[in-house]
Amino acid sequence: MEFEPVIGLEVHAQLNTSTKIFCACSTRFGAEPNTHVCPVCLGMPGSLPVLNKKVVEYTLRMALATNCDIPPQSRFARKNYFYPDLPKGYQISQYELPIAINGHLDIDMQDGSSKRIGITRIHMEEDAGKLIHDGSLPVSHVDLNRTGVPLMEIVSEPDLRSAAEAGVYLRNLRAIIRWIGIGDGNMEEGSFRCDANISIRPKGSDTFGTRTETKNLNSFKNVEKAIRYEIARQTEILLDTGQVVQETRLWNPGKGVTESMRSKEQAHDYRYFPDPDLLPLVIEKKWISAVQKDLPELPSQRRERFVTEMAIPDYDAGVLTSSRELADYYESCLKTFNQPKHVSNWIMGSLLGLLNAEGKSIEDCPIAPKDLAQLLKLLDEGAISGKIAKTVFEEMSSTGKPPKQIVEEKGLVQVSDTSIIEKEIDAVIAANPNEVERYKDGQKKLIGFFVGQVMRATKGKANPKMVNELLMKKLGT
Ligand code: ADP
Ligand code: MG
Ligand code: ZN
Repeated sequence: MEFEPVIGLEVHAQLNTSTKIFCACSTRFGAEPNTHVCPVCLGMPGSLPVLNKKVVEYTLRMALATNCDIPPQSRFARKNYFYPDLPKGYQISQYELPIAINGHLDIDMQDGSSKRIGITRIHMEEDAGKLIHDGSLPVSHVDLNRTGVPLMEIVSEPDLRSAAEAGVYLRNLRAIIRWIGIGDGNMEEGSFRCDANISIRPKGSDTFGTRTETKNLNSFKNVEKAIRYEIARQTEILLDTGQVVQETRLWNPGKGVTESMRSKEQAHDYRYFPDPDLLPLVIEKKWISAVQKDLPELPSQRRERFVTEMAIPDYDAGVLTSSRELADYYESCLKTFNQPKHVSNWIMGSLLGLLNAEGKSIEDCPIAPKDLAQLLKLLDEGAISGKIAKTVFEEMSSTGKPPKQIVEEKGLVQVSDTSIIEKEIDAVIAANPNEVERYKDGQKKLIGFFVGQVMRATKGKANPKMVNELLMKKLGT
């Protein structure tokens, strides 16, 4: 029997507002422990939460960017549990009435196919504090700076069918969060976290199998690895005519396995109820349209525009819109040198290669867009050869100097003077009588050898097109 995996993801993303969701404390990361706290986020009796409008606005942005409906009213609820990082004894979240529902995100797979992933809901909640375990002492410390930092939870429909699809969906979500400027989506630092719900069913079945939920996934690689592991584990159980147990599991990155954390029987009963300290949240249509109007052109829209307006392949457009900064960089280049495919080739090849090698992102790119465009212009005009262009590019990346200056300082201007090139050709012909003989006997492929010799003699500065033409003339075709 053939099985098919069914996957749904719950994603938590920190919102980068400057203050917390229900108080005016700073959300800044890395401060001295317990310095960004107040009676509200410490859960002191009698203190009252006040909703941060920016948190609502940021969540609305995400909701609209993922095609969600915004019900006229949503509510905050208390999720009750005890843990030392949660001083109030409950987390304020949204439960029955979230701010956004019924959205979707279209993801593009590597093979060119596209798939629509449903988004069940998006809601707002507060983050908990952090426990710090001091290895050398039998004590744990609690840092409540993170308590009350705004989170947005995005719950997908069980529409994903492979680890690869889950990876693409997650990367897309993160790209949108960054693109619309509401969070930094950093998985390793925990500002973007994901729980994966996974089940298996016979292919063709329209009911769902029993699922597990895997937590502790702190990188994209680990999400995909954990999903693959769970798929294999559950498939094996089913092939053995066993039954998958509904439970929460933890990914163990060291061992590369998921391990049982708690079963359904041990699951918490959170005793959710509406938070009496917070009024129902009513969002006016006017506000929704204002947020909608303010949204930038989204990655998928920009990708489409790049394909239709600039006539570059969809693959290129996908790479170039992987971040807003990269897309801006590309368009900025085109203002100086408007040859879309040529620019795209250089960005995807040389530029991204350089940034990858140095572990940099486009924001810290040492080469300004107008300088890259200028370099391509020089190449296009025939002022420099392709080989010299690579040299100048490397020099630009290490010095940040504009290409014209480098070409002048290093005397790299292409030689297009017929008499100089002819002199070099004559010398090469004189030095290689055997090759000349063989060429004349019909080994026309040797033209490459002669071009190479002339280019070497001119240190790559001769105009290759002219070298070719003049050689043919001298050797006879
Ligand atoms: P809970 O709150 O207990 O985690 P939810 O109903 O909110 O449960 O579902 C959480 C996630 O689990 C959603 O992303 C949903 O798509 C996914 N999901 C639900 N049923 C299944 C299933 N049988 N297999 C895989 N994923 C599932
Ligand atoms: Mg869950
Ligand atoms: Zn506070």
